[in-house]
Amino acid sequence: RAKRAGGNRVEPFRPAFRTAGTDRLQLETDLRRAIERKELSMVYQPIVRLADGEVAGFEALMRWDHPKRGNIPPSEFIPIAEMSDLIEPLGMFALERATTDLMEWERHTGEIPVFVAVNLSSAQLLSSELYSDIRALLGKTRCDPHRIRLELTESVVMENPEQARLLLAKLKETGISLALDDFGTGYSSLAYLTRFPFDTIKLDKALVNDRSDKRSVLLKSVISMARGLEMQVVAEGIESDADAEELAKLGCDFGQSYLFGAPLGSESIQRLLKERFPLTKRA
Ligand code: C2E
Ligand code: MG
Ligand code: MG
Ligand code: MG
Repeated sequence: RAKRAGGNRVEPFRPAFRTAGTDRLQLETDLRRAIERKELSMVYQPIVRLADGEVAGFEALMRWDHPKRGNIPPSEFIPIAEMSDLIEPLGMFALERATTDLMEWERHTGEIPVFVAVNLSSAQLLSSELYSDIRALLGKTRCDPHRIRLELTESVVMENPEQARLLLAKLKETGISLALDDFGTGYSSLAYLTRFPFDTIKLDKALVNDRSDKRSVLLKSVISMARGLEMQVVAEGIESDADAEELAKLGCDFGQSYLFGAPLGSESIQRLLKERFPLTKRA
């Protein structure tokens, strides 16, 4: 934490991080070593079909177990990685681990209809190597691109819209699915965002849990617009069965929240999938 300035001194502007100044630099140094020291890992949170509760896929979320500070949330270390040159190796680590884990789960279940979604940062989108790196990774792991979903927020694509549109179109063409993350927190209209080849939108938990009297109207119009555009809809952070039911009625296809399952390590997911998709049942 930054020291409070004394007297009436005005605090200088700081980026909106909880960690500032030297603390941030220390974390950046630590993060630089975190991959090789195996302090980073991926956890997977189920995305379930609201109609029948079946698992459709998982979102891969990064975790950092810092040797001295314990778990540091991605909301703290991802921005640090984004401001340095670390986001590319971190981003590839996430993609590589998620793809490898998916293929490993299937060694125990046979082919199953689940996807893995991985978050992409804007700096990754600007990298000229992202496309070929992803192609190489899918080739190496023999993973069907249709099993991979990339999640991007509106701010990520808006930072460089033309470049984003071209790259996303190329990725989409390989069969990779593209989700617009955290929808409802930014400023663009969904109509504008259809210039990008998203096939899925994820309604942000702030929108899903809005308690104002406009809630139903908002959700109803966003969901019907998404469906009209032939996009699938995932609601984030649904807190109750009643809300899940309401969203399903409005036409929302999927949910992802603690209500349906917290993020779990790869081995737990493997066990879960073995139970859900026993080999014998599908023979
Ligand atoms: P996100 O992509 O919107 O991911 C969903 C976040 O909501 C996750 O937080 C998840 O744990 C949390 N969540 C899930 N269900 C609930 C719920 O019922 N209630 C509440 N309050 N929260 C719920 P997490 O894991 O802390 O990640 C935060 C953000 O950090 C992510 O938001 C994503 O923007 C970023 N992030 C995480 N992993 C990666 C990564 O590998 N690469 C990149 N670029 N960003 C990542
Ligand atoms: Mg996401
Ligand atoms: Mg999200
Ligand atoms: Mg988010």
